[in-house]
Amino acid sequence: MNFSVRARCVLSFLLLTSVAMGIVAIYLEQTLGEWSDAHVLTELRRYAETARAMVEAHEEFPSNEYVDHLANLLGQDHSVRVTFISADGSVMGDSILDGVDLLAMENHANRPEVLAAWQEGFGVNKHFSTTLSMPMLYVAIPFHHVLGKSGIVRTAISLQDVQAIHTRLDWALFISSLLFIAVWIPMSNLSARWTFQPLRFVAQQVQNIVRGTHAPPLPVHGNDALAGLASSLNLLAEEKEDMLIRLARQQEKMSAVLQSMSEGVIAIDSAQQITLMNRSAIELLQVGEAWQGMAIAQALPAPVLALLPGADAAETPVAPSCEFILPGRSSRQILAFITPLHDHPGSLIVLRDVTERRRLDRIQREFVANVSHELRTPISIIQANAQTLRDGALEDPEYSRILTNALERNAQRLGKIITDLLELSRLEANQDPVPLTPLPLLPLVQEAVDLVLENAEEKRLSVQVAIDEAAVYEINADLVHRVLANFLDNAIKYTPEGGNLRVQLRRQGELQRLELLDDGEGIAAQHREHIFERFYRVDPGQNRHMGGTGLGLAIAKHLAERMGLQVGVEEVQPHGSLFWLSLPKES
Ligand code: ADP
Repeated sequence: MNFSVRARCVLSFLLLTSVAMGIVAIYLEQTLGEWSDAHVLTELRRYAETARAMVEAHEEFPSNEYVDHLANLLGQDHSVRVTFISADGSVMGDSILDGVDLLAMENHANRPEVLAAWQEGFGVNKHFSTTLSMPMLYVAIPFHHVLGKSGIVRTAISLQDVQAIHTRLDWALFISSLLFIAVWIPMSNLSARWTFQPLRFVAQQVQNIVRGTHAPPLPVHGNDALAGLASSLNLLAEEKEDMLIRLARQQEKMSAVLQSMSEGVIAIDSAQQITLMNRSAIELLQVGEAWQGMAIAQALPAPVLALLPGADAAETPVAPSCEFILPGRSSRQILAFITPLHDHPGSLIVLRDVTERRRLDRIQREFVANVSHELRTPISIIQANAQTLRDGALEDPEYSRILTNALERNAQRLGKIITDLLELSRLEANQDPVPLTPLPLLPLVQEAVDLVLENAEEKRLSVQVAIDEAAVYEINADLVHRVLANFLDNAIKYTPEGGNLRVQLRRQGELQRLELLDDGEGIAAQHREHIFERFYRVDPGQNRHMGGTGLGLAIAKHLAERMGLQVGVEEVQPHGSLFWLSLPKES
């Protein structure tokens, strides 16, 4: 049976009390029984002694008639039977039987109480009275009359009467016990409630601690065991709350670190299901928010899966990393590292997007190849011409003039390539911000145009400048000048004779742009997106012939970026190109 602590307490109180009361009742019953027996005995003896005194005080010889009369007198109320027995055991008188009945009574000489009275002066006995047909308690004492008559006075009481007294006593005890229990149950209940009230608070507090619910501290009264328990629980609750706060902060920190990582991080369990994924990994693999519990095979391609440890440790691959192209829109190139989780079954996969790095590596390789290629041509020409001159061409003045001219041109070209390369590497190395000042744009543009005017006129190109005099921008004059000079140089180079150039200011969407338009052949769309890359040329043969290095626009782009600006190219209808430099907001 499932009893509450309070019920158990009340029941055990009740049991204990009942046992105690039972013991007390048995003791009382016995003591009171003995007391009442003693009382009855004393009464019987007093009756007997009264009878004896009356017989012994009788002046005449005590005849049977006299003692019978006396017995009737003393036993009047019938609750006590008085019997006179002569020394030979015959009954002389009896308070209950008279006449024939009295004469018919059997001899009492051998009755135990009679024998004891003769021997010890007092006899007591309980036995069934054949005369009255009921159990009786007998007391007997001897009497001695001065005229020589001796006998026994016997008093008796029905044991049923004694039993009645016992029964009354038992009832009194029983009722008082019931009354006691009736009062004791609610009282013990109240006492248990009062005792267990603080324990209920303690239990509630323990539940709060286990569930992590915030609750006010338990009141601590005095310094007993309960107060000690309450203050220990308060301390425990406080420490648990502190620990939870510390853990939450630590987790937040860990999560912030994990989420801020540019690398994608994925943790998987031994069943190869995803248990953790950071933001970069979610974005990279485009798995959405339902990644928890997803099989890793759904998120990563076969090359990575092949590296994951199998159920058999012997299958664990040696190589911890691999590179793969992530299918999908972006076609990103990903480097994946796999390590077993520390002290945990499962693995950690770190994904690094190396698309940009690989592109830069490729550019770097191409750049080195391009530089070698660009340098090799003039160097080969210089070497060949010098060898031809040494082998006898010097003897031929006309031929040697042609060869030395070629030598000079290629040396100049070599110099130009080296100057441009140095410029480019300076720009790439120096990322310091450049000073910007509000400047009117027109004089700056005019100065750049004036410098190329002679070359333009040589090709009969018209150069038109359409810039508002009032236009002032916060720029770096030198850098803007160099960008524009590069655009103008190319426009003059790549626009056929008689063409038109125009420098203008125009707003395109959000951007205010300084634009240079020409009506040359223009640049095909597939070349336009690469035109600002180093050594990129639309037609390498023609370009080299014109003395270009393929580095001019790459330098222009770097110059613009140092001012925080952009450059670009667009086509012009029906033919021609438009190169632009974005400008900051007008000052
Ligand atoms: P280069 O020194 O060879 O001119 P650039 O980087 O300045 O190198 O130019 C790269 C390529 O862009 C050139 O080789 C040329 O093919 C093309 N280009 C540049 N400007 C123009 C233009 N205005 N019209 C047509 N093609 C141009």
